[in-house]
Amino acid sequence: SEALVQVKGLKTYFPITQGLWGRKVGDVKAVDGIDLTIRRGETFGLVGESGSGKSTIGRTILRLGEKTDGEVRFDGIDLYSLSRNELRSMRPRMQMVFQDPFGSLNPRIRIGDAIGEALLDHGLASKAEIREKVLEVLNLCGLASYHIDRYPHEFSGGQRQRIGIARAIILNPEFIVADEPVSALDVSIQAQIINLLSDLQGSRGYTYLLISHDLSVVEHLCTTIGVLYLGSLVELAPRDELFSHPQHPYTKALLSAVPIPDPTAVRERIVLKGDIPSPAHPPSGCKFHTRCPWAEAVCREQKPMFRDVGGGHYAACHLI
Ligand code: SF4
Ligand code: MG
Repeated sequence: SEALVQVKGLKTYFPITQGLWGRKVGDVKAVDGIDLTIRRGETFGLVGESGSGKSTIGRTILRLGEKTDGEVRFDGIDLYSLSRNELRSMRPRMQMVFQDPFGSLNPRIRIGDAIGEALLDHGLASKAEIREKVLEVLNLCGLASYHIDRYPHEFSGGQRQRIGIARAIILNPEFIVADEPVSALDVSIQAQIINLLSDLQGSRGYTYLLISHDLSVVEHLCTTIGVLYLGSLVELAPRDELFSHPQHPYTKALLSAVPIPDPTAVRERIVLKGDIPSPAHPPSGCKFHTRCPWAEAVCREQKPMFRDVGGGHYAACHLI
């Protein structure tokens, strides 16, 4: 199907400053040259440890923050060339679901009003129509109508995420970035929210960018998966291909930590040494060399190319 989101050479750097006058002494390279395409109707999964830049990519793709370099096209439109007003008129088409949807909810505002507020802001419904529309999305998100007049504190974690999703879909967007939508929830509730996202995709045709640190979360929903390390993609492949033939040592290590349902199956656990290095001081050559069990001399010196290893499967490693 057609490309909805096209990202080319995207970089998002944050300046590191020092002293009273904020002299710039370096950059945190949160997003360090990303290329990806998200097709209409698919779920693209972005996986990485905290500090890998995944949230920043999500925000930069929606132009919620500034980029340093590169290009983001949404339905062919260069998002960073738009004026404020043009961008504002695009907003209903692209929405975000957060890990903690209540971070942005006022405890004194009834959730019906909180969900309906965006419709008023964008002039997409009259006051009389709003209640009807809010009830419709509440029900779509598995929440009974009587919740509409309740306050944020009256809801459980899973219900809160349903409200966060209702808030995102009330504008009937085409594209939704879901940033760790289930990582704050109990495992038993996680599956319900993943199923809800999947059902909504079926009925309303949404395109998702699903951001998670957990491969087993993206496994169920995603058609294509990109693995991120220190602001760069190290591997990208269709879901089944990634799970059956992981190529990059980092992906192999992440996969080796995912429990296998079949108790007789054996998977060798690859344990990585140390933590993810600071994106302010990324290692030379292959950024993964400080933790890679197979690192060689060349890995410290030369950056591996991110290249097609066959069948739409991309990886960046000297040994492949
Ligand atoms: Fe490991 Fe070297 Fe491959 Fe990087 S390039 S993943 S350090 S083997
Ligand atoms: Mg994050």
